[in-house]
Amino acid sequence: MDLRYSGTMGMISEFAASELPKDYYANLLSEIKEINKKLNAFNVVNEGISSGFPFSVKDNICVKGFEATAGSRMLKGYIPPFNATAVERLLAKDYGFVGKTAMDEFGFGSFGINTDRIARNPFDTDRVAGGSSSGAAVATAILKYHVAMCESTGGSIANPAANCGVVGFTPTYGVISRYGLIDYSNSLDKIGFMARKAEDIRTVLDVVRGPDKRDTTSVDRQITGVKKSRLYIIKGTLEKVDKEVALSFSKFIDKLGSEGYEIKEVSVEDIEKSIPAYYIISMAEASTNLAKYNGYKYGLKNENFVEQYNDFFTEARANFGIEAKRRIILGTFVRSANVKGRYYYRALKIRAKIIERMSAILQDGFIISPTLPMKAPKLEEAQRLPPVKAYMSDFLNIPPNLGGFPHISFPFDYIDGLPIGAQIITSHFNDYALLDFASEWEKQFEYRFKYNLGSL
Ligand code: GLN
Repeated sequence: MDLRYSGTMGMISEFAASELPKDYYANLLSEIKEINKKLNAFNVVNEGISSGFPFSVKDNICVKGFEATAGSRMLKGYIPPFNATAVERLLAKDYGFVGKTAMDEFGFGSFGINTDRIARNPFDTDRVAGGSSSGAAVATAILKYHVAMCESTGGSIANPAANCGVVGFTPTYGVISRYGLIDYSNSLDKIGFMARKAEDIRTVLDVVRGPDKRDTTSVDRQITGVKKSRLYIIKGTLEKVDKEVALSFSKFIDKLGSEGYEIKEVSVEDIEKSIPAYYIISMAEASTNLAKYNGYKYGLKNENFVEQYNDFFTEARANFGIEAKRRIILGTFVRSANVKGRYYYRALKIRAKIIERMSAILQDGFIISPTLPMKAPKLEEAQRLPPVKAYMSDFLNIPPNLGGFPHISFPFDYIDGLPIGAQIITSHFNDYALLDFASEWEKQFEYRFKYNLGSL
């Protein structure tokens, strides 16, 4: 039987108002370890947790004293001696770190399969959890009282959140400090959250957001009071998603229409170029970020220092997975002197245009779409997808990420027992409007969960 709940109160306030049994955390840990054998949500659990509202941290965000692998063999054994700023800020309040969550290697992926530890979808363990924040989504879907800190570069929060039936929020670029995040693509990376209630994301966002002297791109800006009752659907969206998703999304839109939202279609010139632009920029940056992992100062150490220079590095860099290698090669190519005008600079121009065009639309409305074109695929289906097909499946999540626009995914339907997410995008620094929207929706829709570990 599915366990359900609804209402507007956040899980954080419910937890705070409850009396915890003495052995709450010990029981929680043993429940997590047991289910983890099946679902692979956590890479590491914190045996020392003894107080606070549980939060997990994606394995590419540093927590002092806990291995941070970013889902890669290359970082095996790396124990950060410091906390990421966002982690530090939660720990300074009443939050308890519960563990590090599984992910695609360095954030490269859309299905959680580009890593040794493949998280499973709690609604159907034959299916993917989504990616790259696979473990974060699974943890949120199985733990009753919990928020997940995670990262999105091109959709890695919205995508797994939709597949696992939880709320996934990606803030405006710069709103949450990236200090302590293991970089994938610095001009695109954002730290964000997943939770079972939008209200809980509001609570943690209040705690972690704002400037940090260790991240010069972090800012203290929010706009409020923008009332948006118009929902834009980008022309062509529904033709490109699976029929069953399009059908159920249309019903959802009709419902919103009957509740007073004005629904409009809009075209965004060159929106389809977001995908190539994103992958060019992100791979170019990733290839420079990964250059430091050569087993000498960073990356899995090859202690044989007497080896030939080339052999030494080749051996160390063999620890990268196939997708990381692909991105290093492509990323190095697109920024090489003779072709960078054709690829890298062109991609930057497209990004600027997309920002301009989407900003104009977002002035007076949200952009809405299904989060993903299909329900969570079977593991083997995802594994069989050729790389370019896998990249194309991100077409709804990439535009807001490319433009640094805040966006949120929340469940709006279940098809064959699998959750389906909707994504709304708003203008820069209007982050809280997304949480308002999702909270409104939660008043009338019951999110479903198969597990409620840590119930009180
Ligand atoms: N699927 C995208 C990629 O592989 C998104 C990854 C992310 O947001 N970290 O780049």
